[in-house]
Amino acid sequence: LATSESRASATPMMEQFIEIKAANPDSLLFYRMGDFYELFFGDAVDASRALGITLTKRGQHLGQDIPMCGVPVHAADDYLQRLIRLGFRVAVCEQVEDPAESKKRGGKSVVKRDVVRLVTPGTLTEDKLLSPSESNFLMAMARVRGSGEAQFGLAWIEISTGAFHVTESNQTRLLSDILRIEPSELIVAEGVFHDPEMRQLMDQLGRVAVPQPQVLFDSATAEGRIARFFDVASLDGFGSFSRAELAAASAAITYVEKTQFAERPPLGRPERERDGASLFIDPATRANLELIRTLSGERQGSLLKAIDRTVTGGGARRLSDWLMSPLTDPERINARLDDVSWLMSEPGFTDNVRLALRSVSDMPRALSRLALNRGGPRDLQAILAGVEAATAIAASFGDRRPPAGIQAAVAALEALPDMLRTELSACLADETPLLKRDGGFVRAGHNAELDELRALRDESRRVIAGLQLAYAEETGVRALKIRHNNVLGYFIEVTAPNAGPLTEGDAARGRFIHRQTMANAMRFTTTELSDLETRIANAADQALAIEFELFDSMLSMVASQADAIKAAADALSAIDVLAGLAALAEEQGYVRPTVDTSLAFDIVAGRHPVVEQALRRQAQQPFVANDCCLSPPGTEKTGAIWLLTGPNMGGKSTFLRQNALIAIMAQMGSFVPAGSAHIGIVDRLFSRVGASDDLARGRSTFMVEMVETAAILNQASERSLVILDEIGRGTATFDGLSIAWAAVEHLHETNRCRGLFATHFHELTALSEKLPRLAKATMKVKEWENEVVFLHEVGPGAADRSYGIQVARLAGLPEAVVARAKHVLAQLESSERENPADRLIDELPLFAAQVKRAQPPAPPKGPSPFEELVDTLNPDEMTPREAMEALYTLKRLK
Ligand code: ADP
Repeated sequence: LATSESRASATPMMEQFIEIKAANPDSLLFYRMGDFYELFFGDAVDASRALGITLTKRGQHLGQDIPMCGVPVHAADDYLQRLIRLGFRVAVCEQVEDPAESKKRGGKSVVKRDVVRLVTPGTLTEDKLLSPSESNFLMAMARVRGSGEAQFGLAWIEISTGAFHVTESNQTRLLSDILRIEPSELIVAEGVFHDPEMRQLMDQLGRVAVPQPQVLFDSATAEGRIARFFDVASLDGFGSFSRAELAAASAAITYVEKTQFAERPPLGRPERERDGASLFIDPATRANLELIRTLSGERQGSLLKAIDRTVTGGGARRLSDWLMSPLTDPERINARLDDVSWLMSEPGFTDNVRLALRSVSDMPRALSRLALNRGGPRDLQAILAGVEAATAIAASFGDRRPPAGIQAAVAALEALPDMLRTELSACLADETPLLKRDGGFVRAGHNAELDELRALRDESRRVIAGLQLAYAEETGVRALKIRHNNVLGYFIEVTAPNAGPLTEGDAARGRFIHRQTMANAMRFTTTELSDLETRIANAADQALAIEFELFDSMLSMVASQADAIKAAADALSAIDVLAGLAALAEEQGYVRPTVDTSLAFDIVAGRHPVVEQALRRQAQQPFVANDCCLSPPGTEKTGAIWLLTGPNMGGKSTFLRQNALIAIMAQMGSFVPAGSAHIGIVDRLFSRVGASDDLARGRSTFMVEMVETAAILNQASERSLVILDEIGRGTATFDGLSIAWAAVEHLHETNRCRGLFATHFHELTALSEKLPRLAKATMKVKEWENEVVFLHEVGPGAADRSYGIQVARLAGLPEAVVARAKHVLAQLESSERENPADRLIDELPLFAAQVKRAQPPAPPKGPSPFEELVDTLNPDEMTPREAMEALYTLKRLK
């Protein structure tokens, strides 16, 4: 009977499941059944494989077994985390009515369920699912087509903190703009996603990009949708936005609403990033310079890791934002540098501020969870701890006069209403449980009624202990116990052999009511005990109800101050970043760079921030500091290019990278690893360093190199900084040399940028004779008893040898091979003493001249004198002497 009944009831449940699944086809459906989330059909197969959990079956559908797997509700976060990391999206479907309700409707009715939340990589809020030091952005990309080129709008939101930015982009810089933010999820209109024109971009983004219905991106209704979300009549007060930006912003908001259902995260107003406000770093450079993570994907070894001295999650995230988007406005950069300098000038004070910051918990994320109704007592406690630290930090400034940036941050801390601290600290207990439903988070002494109920509850427990003693005496059963479980509540328990005094005789039978017989125990209750039981349960229920009420009132108080809390949290993050940069500069001996609008690039005694620390950690020889001056030489108006030669392992790449990193650090507002540094704002930074194979996409190293070089030659401007490492090495010598040659000329004559060009083609150094702003530099080495010693020192001039064989020997090439190679080299060197490039310099006109000649000829304006003369000549009738004279005339006319 039981089975037939369950089979009958399985069908409506499956019906419900299929209906909900159909509405969420692109997500795994976590279907709540009691204490489990269960997955069915294909979802179950995918999830069991991804999570390594058992795949079973449950009932049948259309004559087939239904695959099923399940995860316990209490551990669901862990599984969610793993699934999201693997790129899945999850729809969480809960029971939305009391099961008792469905029972009332009759046997066949199923409990009502609904999806209450879509968990996607870009919309996470749980601490467990987020890394404290990394932002987690959802980005929307909108494309609008006007009369001209398509415009792109990008909007990115961090739902766990409420940060919201928009910017405009275009086809050329789209990928870099996206990668600069590193969204966890990028939503794109279906039409755009599948557009062949966008195919390459979507491939490059891989799983991060997800198509969404076109309506989300409708630019006509965008403004209205944004206004509705922020509950304002118009967006006038928000600043002006382009159509593409509005479309992206409203798509992002709509998607957030779609995934969060009823709840609204406390989003800040969209902030518009001006075009060109940040240093443009193309994706290849970003990866190659290992800013946020190394080429192998780790954080350890990245620039961020080397310079991060922040102590809060918000500060770490802010630092990473600054590093990903260095500024281009010298005023803003200098404002940050002023702040760092000031903090360094007050060392003891700054240490104390950093100490106080350590007790700041992740306020923005706690606030967001509370606003989404996903918060617990610990989130309130996080707000309290943050507010307390904020107040203490603000007070510690006393009458110090920090520069404008810090001043503004302190003002935001001071603006926190006192009520937040007083009310939360009065109400919240010192130790709070994780879950609201466990109760016990309200401080004793805060609410008289609650105290009374708790006393009653505790008192009753004492009464029960007394009862146990009394019953034991009364029955003479010393081992009599009063216990509690969820099914029976409180009960008296005796072992079977001891049950006699409770069951024999009318008096005992009237008093001890039998409840249950176990294998070797019997359980009873009494009227007294069940009365007490009711009182305890009531007291606990009532106490919990009061705690819930207090929770809600704290919640609404916090929500009403959300803006002030957010501003204060932002201010703490800013102070943390600045104080961290000050600590770093102090610890590492960095200097304040001079940043202005000139085209200078003058680094004295520069160091590589990551390599320097690594060498120190390994207690190796200290890092050798090197100068780099690309400032316009003499009377020139544009910056210089250095042609850097030197053996492998000499330190060329390190030198190239360190100068790029110094520029980035300076423009993010940090002190830099150098003796002194003067940097005229760099607008774009390009690099072609290291071999980043892209074999997965079927492009050879050489092809990748050429694609990246092409991008640089097409885009670099006078204000750009270009770092090129061994261009042309991936092909045959003469091919490579020719490409490198042409590239140097183009950079010098056409791009006119500041640049560093490292090469193995020593022939290229001949170019410096013809190109006035091209200077030669080389990595010095010492030869000693046939060994080479790398000094890691950059000096003027060119290397005359590669020392490739010596390096190969150091690497452990068999001695016989080394000897043979030396022999071959000697032969080669004696047969080719002449540098072919020297000849080139004399014979080959400069690049610019060639370019001029290669330009399309001007439209004909009638015959030239030259052509006229040619027309009059009749070779058949000319004497040799006449012909000779005509030839001379023609030569003059040319
Ligand atoms: P190259 O590009 O010329 O082959 P690298 O830049 O890769 O050489 O440097 C080789 C090694 O030399 C690096 O691993 C680094 O540890 C060390 N090195 C480079 N520059 C310096 C320096 N200025 N001071 C100390 N060690 C250095």
